[in-house]
Amino acid sequence: MARTVDTFKSRIFHDIDFDKPGKQTGYLRVPQSRDGGAWSTIEVPIAVVNGGKGPAVLFTGGVHGDEYEGQIAISRLARRLDPQSVQGKIIMLPAVDLPAALAGRRMCPIDGRDFNRCMPGDARGSFCQMLAHFIDSTIMPQVEVSVDVHSAGNSMEAALCSIMHWVDDAKIIERTQALAENFAAPFNVVFWGVDETATVAAAAERHGALSISTEIGGYGRVRPDAVRIAERGLDNVLKWMGIIEGTPDISQPGGGRTRQMMVRDQRSYLFAPSDGLFEPCFLPEQKIRAGELAGYLHFVEEWERQSQPIEFGIDGTIWMAPGSGRVKKGDVMAVIMQDFAGA
Ligand code: CA
Repeated sequence: MARTVDTFKSRIFHDIDFDKPGKQTGYLRVPQSRDGGAWSTIEVPIAVVNGGKGPAVLFTGGVHGDEYEGQIAISRLARRLDPQSVQGKIIMLPAVDLPAALAGRRMCPIDGRDFNRCMPGDARGSFCQMLAHFIDSTIMPQVEVSVDVHSAGNSMEAALCSIMHWVDDAKIIERTQALAENFAAPFNVVFWGVDETATVAAAAERHGALSISTEIGGYGRVRPDAVRIAERGLDNVLKWMGIIEGTPDISQPGGGRTRQMMVRDQRSYLFAPSDGLFEPCFLPEQKIRAGELAGYLHFVEEWERQSQPIEFGIDGTIWMAPGSGRVKKGDVMAVIMQDFAGA
């Protein structure tokens, strides 16, 4: 009989027992043979806090290495949690794409991939694909809720928000909005994503988990209020799920609750009409109107060429603002969110 390699078996090894009571911290060891390191591995930090019977949740940070608040909040939470006060299971990966996190980059320096475009992964693939496959096949099936903490990285800055996908199931939308309201960022954005099937959030949905991500801050720096929102949010989710004691603190500075928003179609995106230097006239969370001046494209290489005024196409509130001055034709210069109104 012909022998075949088991193409679905993960090459990642670790000594975490996901069902063992107590707190375990360790590493997912991803094989990475290189010059000078035939048997090298990349050690991706993982913590599991297991307090016996109860629901299970996955917290991920550092899926993009240039997004820092989740990396801080999740590693701090893992150190702080006491299994004695936990009813259920918390799986924490504070720096999923560790090489990207150490380099402060969006893309993985090992294989050049965006980790958040790699799910469900490939057991025989590159670093990101192997890790994505492990998370998809071993971790995702265990959890009821997944919170993937992002900010907007080096290239954008976001309104402080959680985000979730539109799905054609009113019950799931309602439950996920409730999860987001308990995470309690100032905004929760429902969006109709382009190219979203390979993300961590989409993988969690495929496994039947309630799934949110966040976009808190950006511009490649650590924003202090965003760290606080992430820390309170993760605590809130654990309380809401009954994994730790207490009532979620969902208060907002201006009163009320998390504002439910949406980014429904292409009109929400302000695309650059040509290459240039973009001078925006807005900041995240600012209210704007259709026809209002969004900014100017400057062409500093030509005296003769006038700066080009850019207008907003729709009313709304700024969700994403650009971080980089230089834009190329087709780049997104702003994303506008509007109050949630369903499909
Ligand atoms: Ca991100």
